Amino acid sequence: MKFGTKVIHAGLEYDSATGAIMTPIYQTSTYVQLEVGKHKGYEYSRTLNPTRHALEKNIAAIENGKYGACFGSGLAAMDCIIKTLNPGDEVISTDDLYGGSYRIFTSIFEKYGIKFHFVSMSDTSEIEATINENTKMIWVETPTNPMMNIIDIEAVSKIAKANNCILAVDNTFATPYLQNPLDLGADVVMHSVTKYLGGHSDVVMGALICNDDLLAEEIYRIQNSSGAVCGPQDSFLVLRGIKTLHLRVQRHCENGKAVANFLRNHPKVDGVFWPGFESHPNHDIAKKQMSDFGGMVSFTLKGNNLDEALNMIKKVKIFALAESLGGVESLIGHPATMTHAAIPKEEREKTGVVDSLIRLSVGVEDIDDLITDLKQAIN
Ligand SMILES: *Cc1c(COP(=O)(O)O)cnc(C)c1O
Repeated sequence: MKFGTKVIHAGLEYDSATGAIMTPIYQTSTYVQLEVGKHKGYEYSRTLNPTRHALEKNIAAIENGKYGACFGSGLAAMDCIIKTLNPGDEVISTDDLYGGSYRIFTSIFEKYGIKFHFVSMSDTSEIEATINENTKMIWVETPTNPMMNIIDIEAVSKIAKANNCILAVDNTFATPYLQNPLDLGADVVMHSVTKYLGGHSDVVMGALICNDDLLAEEIYRIQNSSGAVCGPQDSFLVLRGIKTLHLRVQRHCENGKAVANFLRNHPKVDGVFWPGFESHPNHDIAKKQMSDFGGMVSFTLKGNNLDEALNMIKKVKIFALAESLGGVESLIGHPATMTHAAIPKEEREKTGVVDSLIRLSVGVEDIDDLITDLKQAIN
């Protein structure tokens, strides 16, 4: 099955009781057993729920994976995969990543004896310099948030394999429509389903996808034992959202490209960070591993003045000031004071998150209205 068919059909069956074309919302915690030890595959909804199960199969299929597991948030999915590690293990993570990912690593898991190294992954030299026999996982986010750096998944996977560690890829920004990390050698893919997969800013959810039987067994064991599952109503909403993922992301890409080009030609704009530009330092890798460049665009204003940036954000009318991304509506954000406020100023400025940096999640509205809105706000 090709992608546009998978999003609509993969893992889904018409309801056997009624023929309902949409997967029913099985709003139930438990299931009546025929006799002791005899049931229809479902015993208790933390362990497995039919609506969540359908979604897990669907999400696995669109990432070209065998196994999918869904959680109450993207961070709950990360919590699960990090819990496969043991005290003394080390993780090498990209240094330019979602603020909440940095927070869960440093403020939750460091105290359980897991050590995190944050390195630049624009090439593999820093990974190779940091890796040692305790390294058990490499954590890659690409494109990175909010600087839109691109990391070569295939190149990193070779290092991971040579050193017996797991490569985990946060594929939230790219979506499975543009990039499939498992095909590039990753062992596990993580999504904040909250973003493009849900797509309508109405659900918080996370997912893990993998191919390895043993890793999957471990993920399901932790999912059931720690219990950070998502509910059936949210699973239904995401099943519905995914049905249009390919259509939405196509338009996100078109609009993202138009906005990036508009910003690049604006006299008040300094840098524009978008992997579709040939001048982007990792444009070639983006072209190799992604089928298009997405709808996320970051930029800085000339002079790098905090007040000017905040003023521009105040003036937009269609772009809404909000955290999050990947919904149909366009959002504008200020990483230094919002998503990345948890990262110390010195750390974040090293990676480019300066005071005038503005991040756009370009939505699927009419592009003329979006450009007009940005134009009046910058002027
Ligand atoms: C939002 C986000 C997360 C965290 O996901 P939640 O669903 O908010 O818990 C992780 N990684 C990236 C890249 C994100 O954008």
